[in-house]
Amino acid sequence: MTALTEHADVVVVGGGPAGSTAAALIARRGHRVVLLERESFPRYQIGESLLPATVHGVCRLLGVEEELERAGFMVKHGGTFRWGKNPEPWTFHFASSARMSGPTSYAYQVERMKFDAILLRNAARSGVDVRELAEVVTVNPDGDRVGGVTYRDAEGRTRTIEARYVLDASGNTSGLHKNVGGQRVYSPYFRNIALFGYFEGGKRLPAPRSGNILSAAFSDGWFWYIPLSETLTSVGAVVRRESADLVRGDHREALNSLVAGCPLIADMLSDATMCTTAPYDRIRTRKDYSYCDTQFWRPGMALIGDAACFVDPVFSSGVHLATYSALLAARSVNSVLAGDIGEEDAFTEFESRYRREYKLFYEFLLSFYEMHQQEDSYFWNAKRVTGSDSSELEAFVELVGGVASEEPVLARSAAEIADRAMENADRLARAVGDDPAGSSTGSLLGTGSFDEVMGEGSRLQVQSLLGDAFADSPLFEGGLAGSRDGLSWVKA
Ligand code: FAD
Repeated sequence: MTALTEHADVVVVGGGPAGSTAAALIARRGHRVVLLERESFPRYQIGESLLPATVHGVCRLLGVEEELERAGFMVKHGGTFRWGKNPEPWTFHFASSARMSGPTSYAYQVERMKFDAILLRNAARSGVDVRELAEVVTVNPDGDRVGGVTYRDAEGRTRTIEARYVLDASGNTSGLHKNVGGQRVYSPYFRNIALFGYFEGGKRLPAPRSGNILSAAFSDGWFWYIPLSETLTSVGAVVRRESADLVRGDHREALNSLVAGCPLIADMLSDATMCTTAPYDRIRTRKDYSYCDTQFWRPGMALIGDAACFVDPVFSSGVHLATYSALLAARSVNSVLAGDIGEEDAFTEFESRYRREYKLFYEFLLSFYEMHQQEDSYFWNAKRVTGSDSSELEAFVELVGGVASEEPVLARSAAEIADRAMENADRLARAVGDDPAGSSTGSLLGTGSFDEVMGEGSRLQVQSLLGDAFADSPLFEGGLAGSRDGLSWVKA
């Protein structure tokens, strides 16, 4: 069969959060971008609990913040954990950190088929040539660079696209990442298996924690309990590899028996039934081995999202790492195509920042899995890992909110924080001030709160008037900084 050949500046493989984000941010700079997605959207995906850095950082940059708000996703103010030495559940709220204070102190729990479709449509609106049912079969060389891909289109024809860059955003199931060289290294620590399904009619925590992710440890692992709507709940058991027998056999029975062994989750599901409508009628399993490739790029190609690395889902960092790495890669591609920065410098910056963020989660998680600790000790470890100047609780909340990297674009700009905080004071008051069960469940909200948070908003507003609140600075000595619009690199 004759291959049909086209030309583009960039080919993005995969239309998940990583691919859609990178493609849109590159097309915004006027480059010709083709995105090839194997499936037809909307398609099912796991990874439903988002972080504020994604919702108010990358999604704001993408221009979909309001569309997300209109979609009516469940609002997540923080997380509630039955974890560690404390026999009682404890809660953290994103609002405890000044960097997420005000109206940016929440994220969403999303049905990924809806969220991913919003991002993919947005990429098309941004000028990306989105092609679904298009499966990339090979990555093609151009001398010692990568120079394009060959794919099968919806009609089964083989097509080739020559491009200056290929971004591999094809997730954790594809082998395309091997084309950058290096190796995929699996963590010896997080070798877990997840078994998950969907329930109708599960209980909700009392407001304002009703949209929180609930994580409950049990003897062989832990559960996530993610409220996706008033009635739909995503429930998953993550069990250690040594307990793999617990997830063998009939998956429905296995999940029910794991639920019965975890009193908190059993109580939340006491009036619930398993979903019977697609795509939520199946019990699925995933081996969420954590891995990281030793090389994230080579001339002409870079890996983003799960194609590059993945770390245990306990802090819901997957979509954050996917969209953040997409932003970093887009900056590199935009800078090189504009002739502003050399390829080596641009992609070294991409890889260094991406590895730094991955490592924060990875290292923190190592200590979080030590179950004999009190939560204070987890917070102390967050401060140690991030090297933050903030309080221990704030360091923890910033890490798990995705804003520890000190990237200005991941937290709302200071002026917007102050303005929107005034407009949305009601929402903030509900989130911060009115937690009725706060002390009885060990809520960590009582950190002084509403006044303090509003005070921080005003402080940042003054800073922004003085003009120093948005400037990015190099994270590494001799490194690059993000441009003011966030879409490229500038020399410091
Ligand atoms: P994907 O979302 O996997 O998208 C990749 C896309 O590439 C797919 O649409 C696929 O069809 C397409 N594709 C693949 N191969 C090809 C090809 N050859 N040609 C064209 N297209 C191709 N993350 C969170 O943020 N919150 C959570 O609560 C969370 N929970 C999780 C629970 C479990 C058990 C696991 C395993 C993961 C969880 N994650 C979570 C992680 C999250 O699922 C991923 O990190 C996230 O989906 C990665 O996005 P991505 O865009 O890199 O890849």
